[in-house]
Amino acid sequence: MNQEDYFKRMITRRSYEEVLEKAKKILCIQPHADDADFGAGGTIAKLTRKGCEVVYVTLTDDRVGTFKQDLWPEKLAIIRVKEQERAAEILGVKRLIWLNYRDSELYPSLELRGKLIRLIREIRPDVVMTNDPWLPYEVHPDHRYTGLMAAEAVLFSPFPHVNPEHIREGLKPFYVPHICFFFTHRPNTYIDISETINLKIKAILAHKTQIEDAERVSSLLRAYGKEVGKNIGVDYAEAFKILTPRHLHVNPFTENL
Ligand SMILES: [Zn+2]
Repeated sequence: MNQEDYFKRMITRRSYEEVLEKAKKILCIQPHADDADFGAGGTIAKLTRKGCEVVYVTLTDDRVGTFKQDLWPEKLAIIRVKEQERAAEILGVKRLIWLNYRDSELYPSLELRGKLIRLIREIRPDVVMTNDPWLPYEVHPDHRYTGLMAAEAVLFSPFPHVNPEHIREGLKPFYVPHICFFFTHRPNTYIDISETINLKIKAILAHKTQIEDAERVSSLLRAYGKEVGKNIGVDYAEAFKILTPRHLHVNPFTENL
């Protein structure tokens, strides 16, 4: 690619639908059990049915996700693992990794970034999926810093002198071709989930401790999917912002891509 084409690619808005449709391996880094199911469950179900391998990495233990004072955090953390296992089964996600940072207390650290870089170097995914850390007004630290740490890990995983202990152990640096953000306010890619919307709803309802009224949640998910679907003229869709690692550093155009 010549300089001019490269520059054009860095500043031009485009859809990356084929990046997801052709992915063979996706590493999905989420703050809590259920976030990826909400943000991308229909797409994940669609891709696993086509043979794509999806790995979930959940950063926190979900221990505070309840309004019930008599539900002990330690007990809730155990229940949330079971609920995510059930939901993952419905969506066709076969591998779940838990980093067990304390729910609501996730802050950036080199330790966490190193763990994510290691997972990228081990799993070598075509796409890293995570929530968009630049969602305006997002206050939850687990969400802000999961997306940010995942993006930093994508940026640095090809550099052999970042976490060189991995390289000494025999892992190789790895360049992730694309990062895909869900829960984004600046989507550039829509995926038709009309055939998997029911699986998405079923998976989300498996998170029983998080659902007070299953019917209400189902109709909200349907209404939301329908609204997003209007962008590409389908019944139901999910929205993503997909970028390359080269968009993630000193590119003033990235926000609008
Ligand atoms: Zn969450």
